[in-house]
Amino acid sequence: MKTALIDLNFMGYPLAIASYLLTDGHECALIEVGPTTTLPTLWKALQTHGIAPEQVRHLLVTHIHLDHAGALGVLMERLPHAVCYVHPVGAPHLIDPSRLIASASRLYGDMMDTLWGEVRPVPAERVRVVQDGERLTIAGRTLLAIDTPGHARHHHAYLDEHDGTLFAGDIAGVRMPNTTYVRPPTPPPELDVEAWQASLAKLRALPIQRLALTHFGFFDDVARHLDELEARLLDWAQFTRQKIEQGISDSELIEALRQYGNREMAERGVDASSYDLGAGYELIALGYARYWRKKLAQGTP
Ligand SMILES: [Zn+2]
Repeated sequence: MKTALIDLNFMGYPLAIASYLLTDGHECALIEVGPTTTLPTLWKALQTHGIAPEQVRHLLVTHIHLDHAGALGVLMERLPHAVCYVHPVGAPHLIDPSRLIASASRLYGDMMDTLWGEVRPVPAERVRVVQDGERLTIAGRTLLAIDTPGHARHHHAYLDEHDGTLFAGDIAGVRMPNTTYVRPPTPPPELDVEAWQASLAKLRALPIQRLALTHFGFFDDVARHLDELEARLLDWAQFTRQKIEQGISDSELIEALRQYGNREMAERGVDASSYDLGAGYELIALGYARYWRKKLAQGTP
């Protein structure tokens, strides 16, 4: 039984998007497939690992954002025996990706094709909806699905119960190898700070031995990592709330958060630019802005 990290080398950059290959010598599974633009890299990695397309049986995505799942439609056409596994809220948008594409286009504009490539529908009969708490027996092990909203409503983390690896998607943040700094990716439109905190509380109650982040890699200081993520999620929430209550514009908010975040990273000697591909300040700030404007309009104290 093996678990391997594949660096999808997104836009030519290492350490931006990972996919995880799970094998037991017979069948194999992928957790996260990346966007269509990184398919050549994924395909080559499967060959390097000696995996034939017929052996790839299971494609799991933590959520349907295009950097995690964009390649699914095209990939399913090339993998004759694969089924894809997805959160109930995400499933309809894999089968008919038109709303997903429209929503991503609002964020990425004319960069859509360059970043993500083609997004094709997945045939409904090859989509397997996974419920919270479900256990999947896959590639020689059991994976526990954990509903983990906060970053997105359609988000699962998967715990490999044989070795305690948590495939965390984006709910455990973004962290570069050989650093301790954790950045919360908080894009619009579904950021929900309270739901995120509840998801982290759920994770803390599980026997997690190491985190496998999509952005990027394995980390085994689980408790410290989750504490730092939550502290920064809340700190940035307070920072952005104050600015928004002062009537700041979106572009000013992006710059203010960039300065605030980068100052702290510089103090810790962390290269800020290495985090921007996984979680850039623009989407982080816009996510908080939308979250707060909605909440403040509802009269939150
Ligand atoms: Zn995401």
